[in-house]
Amino acid sequence: MKIKKGDQIIVISGKHKGTKGPVVKVLLETSKVLVTGVNKVKKHVKPSREHPEGGILEFEKPVNIGNVMLVCESCKKPTKVGIRRENGKKLRFCKKCEALIK
Ligand SMILES: [Zn+2]
Repeated sequence: MKIKKGDQIIVISGKHKGTKGPVVKVLLETSKVLVTGVNKVKKHVKPSREHPEGGILEFEKPVNIGNVMLVCESCKKPTKVGIRRENGKKLRFCKKCEALIK
């Protein structure tokens, strides 16, 4: 998986196209990512112990990893992630400006 938790991404297709946000979770089994502020859905909940008020709960649903692109910190552009090996370590880099991605 080339995208990791903490990465800044932009949605490139679907109805949330153009939305940016940080990755909060990578779901390896389903190849999806959970991104703050992206793919928000509203759910009506009845009052419960967890939500004593009940009402409308807003939360994010994971989006397909194929629908997002990493936003490079250096050139601020959506980019593909390249991988190169140095001293046995895998390093990620921006294919647009070649800057390393943390
Ligand atoms: Zn870049």
